[in-house]
Amino acid sequence: MERRAKIMATLGPASSDPETLRQLLEAGVDIVRLNLSHGNHETHGAVIENVRRISAELDRHIPIVADLMGPRYRLGKLPEGGSHLHQGQQVVLAEGGDGVDLPLDSPGLLQYLRPGERVLIDNGLVELTVETRRGDQVVARVINGGPVSTRKGINLPDSRLPFQISEKDRADVAFVVHAGVDYIGASYIGSADHIERLRGVIEASGSELPIIAKLERALAVEHLEEIVSAADAVMVARGDLGVEVPLRQVPVLQKKIIAAGRRTGTPVIVATQMLESMTEQPRPTRAEVSDVANAVFDGADVLMLSGETAAGRFPVAAVRTMDQTIREAESYRPRSEKVFGLSGAEPGVADGFHVGSIDIPDAISSAAAHATELLNVRRIIAFSQGGFTARLLARYRPAVSVLAFTTDTAIARRIQLLWGVQPLVLESDVEHHDEVVEVVDRELQARGLAEPDEVIIILMGDPIRERPRTNLMRIHRVRRQL
Ligand code: PEP
Repeated sequence: MERRAKIMATLGPASSDPETLRQLLEAGVDIVRLNLSHGNHETHGAVIENVRRISAELDRHIPIVADLMGPRYRLGKLPEGGSHLHQGQQVVLAEGGDGVDLPLDSPGLLQYLRPGERVLIDNGLVELTVETRRGDQVVARVINGGPVSTRKGINLPDSRLPFQISEKDRADVAFVVHAGVDYIGASYIGSADHIERLRGVIEASGSELPIIAKLERALAVEHLEEIVSAADAVMVARGDLGVEVPLRQVPVLQKKIIAAGRRTGTPVIVATQMLESMTEQPRPTRAEVSDVANAVFDGADVLMLSGETAAGRFPVAAVRTMDQTIREAESYRPRSEKVFGLSGAEPGVADGFHVGSIDIPDAISSAAAHATELLNVRRIIAFSQGGFTARLLARYRPAVSVLAFTTDTAIARRIQLLWGVQPLVLESDVEHHDEVVEVVDRELQARGLAEPDEVIIILMGDPIRERPRTNLMRIHRVRRQL
């Protein structure tokens, strides 16, 4: 059985050379991610070219996600060696200047701080509470002390910060549109409006690249449903999320976000520290392997490796471990099928799958997934010119694998992100539903993917030339090729 949940690997110094990249793809990476917080356009451009060349050599359709830095806030310049803040100490924050304990590197940020709000430094290791404003300075009390030093990151989970698209993000969008990536990762999204504003910037660069909204702010949790509806995919970015909300809430939020994604058919990526100890060690911890398996049971579409593949000592071993762990979890029959299956939510699962507005494509996709359980079918074929049919099918978690036929290589790469769907590119256009069936018969047998007389299910939108949404299910016996 093919693996159904996909693996995304972040590329970095440990994995950008062509040989390691090839090994990562051979070990099971389905999607690669470039973190634009690091590196420059020249190095990212070279990596994009390598990914395209090597995936073509391996006959794979590998999407590239370009993850924007987003609005990051940082400390300014502190004395050499930094300083140490003690619990109970009063500190002064300002945009630089003498007599300031904590200079900030983010112009205009202080105006948004209100008394009682938290200031978290260095992934939340140091915590302050705002007490008062004094002119253009802010006075805060240290709640949890610790070391602070130049350029450490700041999180302001309680503050109502504006969503500003920086000059760097705009330049990065223009660059990745030109370089030809497949998805844009959007950091620090807090509402659907933020997604639409970024979409405007992407469109101004002449592109319609889909957006992966990273859920990493307390504000995003408040606007979960609208974000999941507006985004093309979402990421449970557990790194920053675990700083902005109490860490103990992250596992529950992961389940809620995945359930919200299933309701709208929005793919969900679970990210950060999945096999963290493999950045230094060749074997993961028991807890990490359980985390990977539990993300599968939760119903995640994609599991992501970050530092493990970007900067770790064992990037290929980390991918192999993730691949084997996902397969093992899936062979146990994914619990997600029961929780989210066609028969509805299990008792006690408040966020179980329910379909608010069944329409024709939904009904067809659900019928196809259901039919595989009644018939001896090994595959569903989605004739998916724009990827829509494939995405709908993935949402219904069919028990058999889905092959998505498309004539567009860019769409094939986007489809690769979907749970349980493998893209297949056709050389020439198809104009009639009978022709779709002929092409499917021919391609499946030529690739050794089906036997004559085998029953398959084909979904498409008919009439083909008009590209309507999915409206036709054909249950068909594969005809022997003469
Ligand atoms: C995260 O915070 O979990 C995350 C994936 O974001 P980044 O790696 O860009 O910090």
